[in-house]
Order: sequence, then structure tokens, then C-alpha cells
Amino acid sequence: MANAIEIIGNARKESRAILTEMESKQLLASLGIPTTQVELATSREEAVAFSKTIGYPCVLKVSSHDISHKSDAGGVKVGLKNDEEVAAAYDAIKASCLTKFPQAVIEGVTVQTMAKPGLEVIVGMATDPQFGPVLMFGLGGVWVEVLKDVSFKIAPLTKSDAAMAVREIRASKLLDGFRGSEPVDTAALEDILLRISDFVTTTPEVKEMDLNPIFAYPNGAIAVDARVILGE
Ligand code: ADP
Ligand code: MG
Repeated sequence: MANAIEIIGNARKESRAILTEMESKQLLASLGIPTTQVELATSREEAVAFSKTIGYPCVLKVSSHDISHKSDAGGVKVGLKNDEEVAAAYDAIKASCLTKFPQAVIEGVTVQTMAKPGLEVIVGMATDPQFGPVLMFGLGGVWVEVLKDVSFKIAPLTKSDAAMAVREIRASKLLDGFRGSEPVDTAALEDILLRISDFVTTTPEVKEMDLNPIFAYPNGAIAVDARVILGE
């Protein structure tokens, strides 16, 4: 498995500052952060073949350096249950993305394991000119935009910083279980924050990271979308 330095080096060779979702997830996996399995298909037949090995239901997503908001472009299809649905989704993703972004170069379509539903949260990292790397934790999905309910901590984070980042959001009650749902594994979320903190502290060329969303479960958590941006 490629390590973070190799993945970053590959992007640099191609003069790219933004890692693809697949590269970003490979990087997360190398840091010990759980993500979905991802394979890049460059034909409909290949997408079907990958789906068979990954297993149903699966998810298909556009992979293009020119498209960063994949669902806005019609580039995400979840819950695909069989070969026919995968083949149709492959064609639909390409058609929709090329209609919305006629100039886009599409490298292919990724085939991914479909993560079971969980509480959507996000972990982010941005570089502040004064404070350096700053980590963010918040609720994911629509809530991040509507409520702006996020907390920030300056890296490197201590264990108690990570615990506070998770606790400090206003809607932290949702993490404790809501209307009969089980509490989520906050230790797994703190672990992700600490691994990202360690990584960005030792890798200053990473300028931004976005794990959006992470699905949080009573046991564990998994990043289903990821983006890493390099600086100078
Ligand atoms: P975007 O580029 O639009 O942010 P995402 O990769 O985040 O695209 O996908 C959009 C949504 O689809 C996610 O917020 C999540 O709810 C769902 N999703 C994406 N990938 C998966 C997956 N592998 N398993 C389950 N749900 C997924
Ligand atoms: Mg996303």
C-alpha cells in the first residue's frame, strides 16, 4: 500500500495540488483512518467487474480533477444493487457530468463499498497564517451549512483537545444518542482527529483536508468522502 509521501509525490509530479478522492482515501488508510474500499474503473465493464468483487450494494462516483463537488454534477450514485444498476449508473454519471462540465476530463468512475448509514460528521484541517494547522470537527450533511455547529483546535492536539473538540459542538447531545438511537463511538472520532493532527504536524506541505462526511457508528467510524489539498 502506498504511503502518504508517495501519494503526495505522485500528485506533485503531475503538478496537482488537489488529490483525488481515491488518493485522499489511500492517504487516510495509510494513517490508519478507516475509509471505504475504492477502485477506479475506466469502462462500464470494468465498473461491473469491480462491483462484483467489492460486493453489493455499492457506490459509483465520478473521478475528475475538474469536478470537486461530485453530487452537484450528478456524479454520485449510491445503493446500487446489481450489475445492471452499476452499468446504468456508470453511463448516467458520465452523461450528467459532461452535460454540466463539458470541458471536464473524466479519469473514470470509482467503485466503492457502500457504508451503512450512520451519524454524519466532518473533520477538517485548514492552515491559518498565524496559528498553522487548525483542526475542525462538526456535524456533517446539511447541518454543517445550516447550523455552522463546529469546533476548532490548533494542532498538535492533545488527547484532551480531541475530546473537547468533539464535546464542544452545540449539538453534542446528538452524539450521546437521540430519541432511542445508540450513542456514537466518540473515541473513534477523537482517534481520527489525533491521527490527522499528527500527520499535518509532520507534513507541512498539506494545506487542507476535508473528511466530509464521516459516518459515526455506535462502534467505529468511517470516512466516505475525502479531499486533501497541498500547499506550496
Ligand atoms: P460530494 O463530492 O458531493 O461531497 P460525496 O462523496 O460526499 O460527494 O457523496 C455525497 C453523499 O453520498 C455523501 O454525503 C454520503 O451521504 C453519500 N455517500 C458517498 N459515498 C458513500 C459511500 N461509500 N457509502 C455510503 N454513502 C456514501
Ligand atoms: Mg462530500
